[in-house]
Amino acid sequence: MNTKLVELELADVESIFTDKTKRKKVVENSFLHGLQKRHFILFQILPLVVTLIALPLMPYLPFGEFELSLFVLFWLITGLGVSSGYHRLFTHRSYKTHNAVQIILAIGGAMAGQGGVISWAALHRRHHELSDKPGDPHSPNLHGSGWRDRIRGLVHSHVTWMYKHEYPSVVHYVPDLIKNKNLIGVDRYYYLWVSLGLVLPTLLGGLYHWSLAGALAGFLWGGVFRILWVGHTIWSINSFLHCFGSSRFETEEHSHNFGAIALLTFGESWHNNHHAFPGSASFGLEWYRLDPGYWFIQLLEVFHLAWDVKVPTKERIQARAINS
Ligand SMILES: [Zn+2]
Ligand SMILES: [Zn+2]
Repeated sequence: MNTKLVELELADVESIFTDKTKRKKVVENSFLHGLQKRHFILFQILPLVVTLIALPLMPYLPFGEFELSLFVLFWLITGLGVSSGYHRLFTHRSYKTHNAVQIILAIGGAMAGQGGVISWAALHRRHHELSDKPGDPHSPNLHGSGWRDRIRGLVHSHVTWMYKHEYPSVVHYVPDLIKNKNLIGVDRYYYLWVSLGLVLPTLLGGLYHWSLAGALAGFLWGGVFRILWVGHTIWSINSFLHCFGSSRFETEEHSHNFGAIALLTFGESWHNNHHAFPGSASFGLEWYRLDPGYWFIQLLEVFHLAWDVKVPTKERIQARAINS
């Protein structure tokens, strides 16, 4: 999907550079909306439908430590790919790493089924630019103040915004990423990586139990259930954490922290901290605020696989904090 989008954008590059008044921040057309709809049906609707169909079959399928291990393994690969890769590395450039690590993180993130890295980063940079203001791709706070409007806003920000939305110009939002040949290469095979995230656990399940039922259990636990889980935990940052939780810093939007789900979201739930210091590799900011996405970057650093890891000084944090 994203390669086509990038090509579409690059075709306009020449005219953009000759006439800067032509530079648009977002593009919208029926071709893009068609791709968005297809992606929404494949990775939001279909996993839900498959889950509902599979539930009555569960008593007949193997379930034990192996299935849970598959779930956790693919949850870690895709969750860290999104949090430490898509978000902290590619969107916010909060640390540097080797090309090989970039490629691995981009593939891990792609396997989550949340879109290719170029689109994901462009959408997220636009979110930071216009948080909770018109143009934010997924604000829950722009639908009115009545309780029905609030629920409508939450549903929109959590999931339905993906069905049809303005597409941020990659030339404007991610000029650094579209110059990265490795990333463009990974993006080109986006659907292959998502498929790999389904095929691998299926194969592992089939081989372990040496049965079709084992393969199906692997497909469900390591693939479908995991895509749903990673998706909704990450989307809850966009939706619930722009409405509920605590605020440690005064920021211009309605971002909140919610420590109780920090481990489940790889530390992404320190969202108020993140909006206050978007360039920081650490979202928890203190060691006792659990932040697995940052722990992974620190692990890379120990092995000299990450460097220039950006974190604000204690003084900067304290100067901005309104709560401890
Ligand atoms: Zn936000
Ligand atoms: Zn961010």
